[in-house]
Amino acid sequence: MNSSMKAVTVSTIGSFAWGDRDVPRPEAGQVLVKVAVTGLCRTDLKLVRSGHRDLVLPRIPGEEVVGVVAENGPGAVQNNVGTRVYIYPGEWCGLCPACRSGAENLCREMRIMGFHRDGGFAGYVVVPEKSLIPLDDQCNFHDAVFAEPLSCCINAIELSRLTAGERIGIWGAGPAGTLLKRLACHIGADVVVIEPDGERRERIGGQETAAGERFDVCIPAVGDGGAYLAALGQLAPRGRLVAFSGLPANSAHHAADYNLLHYYEQTVVGAYGCALRHGKMALDLITSGSVIVSDLVSHRLPLSALDAALDMVAGRCCMKIHLNPQE
Ligand SMILES: [Zn+2]
Repeated sequence: MNSSMKAVTVSTIGSFAWGDRDVPRPEAGQVLVKVAVTGLCRTDLKLVRSGHRDLVLPRIPGEEVVGVVAENGPGAVQNNVGTRVYIYPGEWCGLCPACRSGAENLCREMRIMGFHRDGGFAGYVVVPEKSLIPLDDQCNFHDAVFAEPLSCCINAIELSRLTAGERIGIWGAGPAGTLLKRLACHIGADVVVIEPDGERRERIGGQETAAGERFDVCIPAVGDGGAYLAALGQLAPRGRLVAFSGLPANSAHHAADYNLLHYYEQTVVGAYGCALRHGKMALDLITSGSVIVSDLVSHRLPLSALDAALDMVAGRCCMKIHLNPQE
């Protein structure tokens, strides 16, 4: 195995370095994974160019990762080498109240791959052995890497308590909005996607909402204060708004009208990331074809093209971009 690899390193917010790094060594309880595909998402744009609450520098980003186990840490009980895997991006303690309630994404000692520890914008990544989910033989890497964004959508839909026959409004027809839509359709909900961009709206079959239209569940899948305000205003009685997308630090925040929440018994619930079990659920949905993901990939690029890829995400002139660190 090579002792060096190509990697993206962020040392100061606003820029990154592309170059050779030493391949990291797995310790006890860890494995070394050779990265096959890493997904680029809007969070990476935010992380590299404007920073993120959970980012600890210097850092190799990349939280959507699939690959092949290349080496086990010392004292490993089973030999995983050669196994194709999806990596759950969290590292959790398993002991705190959040972990014990099944919400390890809220672990008080949470360490997210690509944020608190190095991620998949590199030839290799070291991860906890317990964060691996093996892939089904018929699930290819490009489909499997959607398990991460789809897991976050599953968490949001769970927290929304959406049921079959209910009406859901989703703001934004980017990759996340599209995955939310397909998940809600799979559940049997009646889905409306609100998207100002005509091309994106057409691709997803989105629609304009009529004034006064009400939804049982509203999810802004775009980091825009205006979308939050619109979503809040279109909640039905007992409706649930999911705060799914983070808002830019400088955006105007629109406080909920607590009197309206009171009179209409509405709920606002946050959703951030995903738990390990959501990764397993996502891979089952992808592998069984229950949620189609392959058509969402608009570009497959070498990792060395990251800067151009980030520009495309910033300009919203792409859907999902998959990066290959081995090219
Ligand atoms: Zn914990």
